[in-house]
Amino acid sequence: MREFFPIFKTHPKLIYLDSAATTHKPQSVIDAITKSYAEEYATVHRSIYRSSLVATEKYNQTRETVRKFLNAAKSEEIVFTRGTTSAINLVALSYGCTFLKAGDEILISQMEHHSNIVPWQMAAQKTGATLRWIPMNEKGILLWENQINSRTKIVSIAHVSNVTGTINPIQAIGNAAHKVGAVLLVDGAQAAAHLPVDVIELDCDFYAFSAHKCYGPSGVGILYGKQALLEKMPPIEGGGDMIEQVDFEKSTYQLPPLRFEAGTPIIGPVIALKAALDFIENIGREHLMTQGQKLLNRATEHLSMIPNLSIVGTAPHKGPILTFHVEGVHSLDLSTLLDLKNIAIRSGHLCAQPTLRCFGLETAARASFGVYNTLEEIDIFAEELKKILRTLSL
Ligand code: PMP
Repeated sequence: MREFFPIFKTHPKLIYLDSAATTHKPQSVIDAITKSYAEEYATVHRSIYRSSLVATEKYNQTRETVRKFLNAAKSEEIVFTRGTTSAINLVALSYGCTFLKAGDEILISQMEHHSNIVPWQMAAQKTGATLRWIPMNEKGILLWENQINSRTKIVSIAHVSNVTGTINPIQAIGNAAHKVGAVLLVDGAQAAAHLPVDVIELDCDFYAFSAHKCYGPSGVGILYGKQALLEKMPPIEGGGDMIEQVDFEKSTYQLPPLRFEAGTPIIGPVIALKAALDFIENIGREHLMTQGQKLLNRATEHLSMIPNLSIVGTAPHKGPILTFHVEGVHSLDLSTLLDLKNIAIRSGHLCAQPTLRCFGLETAARASFGVYNTLEEIDIFAEELKKILRTLSL
């Protein structure tokens, strides 16, 4: 698959193991974005000259492609945002701040990215609701049974953790949430590019993900929301495009999704997102999942043999993410030394400080895999890591 990605022509030696942070872009996505700006660029939704109608048509095609990608019932249920972060903020600040009250509980988990923590802290502060955490065990498995109660109003959980890699049992958590009348938001940032996602089968109320982790452009995110819920939610941003009528005293708003897309949207990148989702669908998410598992298994086998190295997250069902810590070595040193061998891994707090602290860590190293990685690259990564640790005499 490397041949589809121009970055590897520019940097032929690069072993890129940071796809959980962001993925590289295939030529088809780069071509789509170039074509949008070079040949078909105009504003959308506002004008009736031909190039604007073409741009609007392309923009809407992406919405329909996302609908199919998630198996949502209607394209009106797909809202374009700037990323997973702004999608979760939208739900927390609109749905959360409208419907939560003192005494209600918001339930997240111990394995959430900061993006799925901080917006809920804000919503809790504004409404008087209480924020609670589902604990996890030492393998990185959520102990979610008995955590949902009659006070729970919103459950917001990662589909796949960006630290432990755990694939969470979304359907079961959703069933329990719905039994008490709570809504379920799924943070799909680490899932959408790797697993089949069917929002009807998952029966989630909201699903958020980012284009840039799905081989698409940065700056675009997706919020799926059930139509009945989106229709009850007020906008959190006002401006052009999201209104029906504006007067000096008051305004009326469009129906979703446009109600939540104030201002000139992210036109070129949204149009190019279609090419990214087509790229994924052409390969097939079942196939991507199998390939990801092979890479993860090989890396896990290698790293399990290294003394003083502990793997953070050993759940049986994981996405292609391998976080680890070597006793006595700072993760930033590891990634700097690996970088000298053209191997890119993530290091630091992984935007999940509370999660790492559950494992007694402040920082960790993370290798994560994408469609362009090979088993041979995993072998080289493990070999170079061992050499570095030998040099450091560990
Ligand atoms: N949730 C998870 C699980 C993530 O891994 C990330 C990105 N690292 C985000 C949310 C935030 O995504 P973005 O920065 O694209 O908004």
